[in-house]
Amino acid sequence: MARERKLTACQCGACGHFRMPPTPYCPECQCPDMIWPELPGTATVFSFAICTRSPYSGEPLVYVPVVVDLDGAPGARLVSNLVGINAEDVEIGMKVSIDWNPIRDGWLLPIFRPALTEERHETA
Ligand SMILES: [Zn+2]
Repeated sequence: MARERKLTACQCGACGHFRMPPTPYCPECQCPDMIWPELPGTATVFSFAICTRSPYSGEPLVYVPVVVDLDGAPGARLVSNLVGINAEDVEIGMKVSIDWNPIRDGWLLPIFRPALTEERHETA
């Protein structure tokens, strides 16, 4: 979660290895230093599932939990939800971009939408 619309990942301050979720010590070099670089907010779908019931109420509800590889942070994966797409159109390897879902008390939950690939070639 975040309060600002900035996507970051935990990166080792010594060797640059990304570790998600954050751990007290870097698994590569055992260094406790961590930095939180801002990421571009785009990602690639690594895996996904299609769920058809709400985890809270059991009511019928289609949603798509995804695991994404974050651009700009090799090795960093984030578990989120993919929205703005029909569940049957989701594909592993598709580009997605982050959006922020306000939940409560000013907190924002990162979610992902299909990236607008055609318009974004110049930044790729
Ligand atoms: Zn390290």
